[in-house]
Amino acid sequence: MAFESLIGQEEVKDKLKRVLESGKIGHAYIFSGERGIGKKSFAREFALAAMCTDRQGSCRCGKCKACTYNDSGNNPDLLVVAAPDGKSLISVDRIRDDIRDAVSKAPNFSAKRVILVENAEKMNEPAQNALLKTFEEPPEYAVIILLCDNLLSLLETVRSRAVLLEFRRNTEEEILEKYRQNLEKKPSGAQCVSRELACAYADGIMGRLDEISNDTGAMEKRKKLLDLLPGLFEGDVEVKNRIIELIDVKNKQYEFVFFTLMSFIRDAAVLTRFGMRTKVINADCRENLFALGGNVGYYRLKDALTAVDTCYKNLGRNAMPETTVDNMLIKIGKGGR
Ligand SMILES: [Zn+2]
Repeated sequence: MAFESLIGQEEVKDKLKRVLESGKIGHAYIFSGERGIGKKSFAREFALAAMCTDRQGSCRCGKCKACTYNDSGNNPDLLVVAAPDGKSLISVDRIRDDIRDAVSKAPNFSAKRVILVENAEKMNEPAQNALLKTFEEPPEYAVIILLCDNLLSLLETVRSRAVLLEFRRNTEEEILEKYRQNLEKKPSGAQCVSRELACAYADGIMGRLDEISNDTGAMEKRKKLLDLLPGLFEGDVEVKNRIIELIDVKNKQYEFVFFTLMSFIRDAAVLTRFGMRTKVINADCRENLFALGGNVGYYRLKDALTAVDTCYKNLGRNAMPETTVDNMLIKIGKGGR
């Protein structure tokens, strides 16, 4: 039980191993990197190892009281703080009440009391200032780990008091290794996502790979989208509405459908421009996409790709995402007229 089971992030892994082996565990850490990059998995392993009372080097024993409680998921010496569902902020009260309270008490039976703050960028300035008070005079047993998607949203005073660990995108080999692991434990009913598609969608981020590997409906949505594609370019209103349903912008899980739409159009453009044998992401759909390219032509595909890309970028900051998606699809449909 150690970091060995986690793939990639060798630099982070080395640093954390050295800290655990030396026994000199600091009071504050910032794990920084994009959403889905693996911060939480690493922070968890680090926390569990730090809490173990019989740690060998960087490996937790798996038998002591701290390990046993951690394995059953209810170790009172581990506090996980996250913004409540539907809330975009971690409030100052939460920091004052929960974190300071936790830090004030010695661990029950673990070597350390660990506080893990998820999405630390959601702490506003008063919350971060409240946290600073804890950073200034931490008791010897306390370890605070901040997981952060956007380092710049943390105050300089917070950043300068913590050890920073930066997570980078995984290499293609690392993603492939995880892809093989996921295949072995894929949920029943899930169809295999092809290697090319999985790697392209993951784009170096393990969380995205897991997302596509665990989504039992992903391949079905992809098949539907492929069938709807010619109709979309013909400006068929019914087809447009069915694609809107597939994108389902309200449930915020639209990334995969968007990615698929983009990769289909991109592949069709590449095949049209460079021929049938060109390497593409959606190799299994090569013939359909080549035929689509033949019908609509390279320049329309290129314009459609720009429209999808622009729409995707605007979605997050748009108050009316449905309209944005509708306009994009209309634009693609009108391209030929
Ligand atoms: Zn242990």
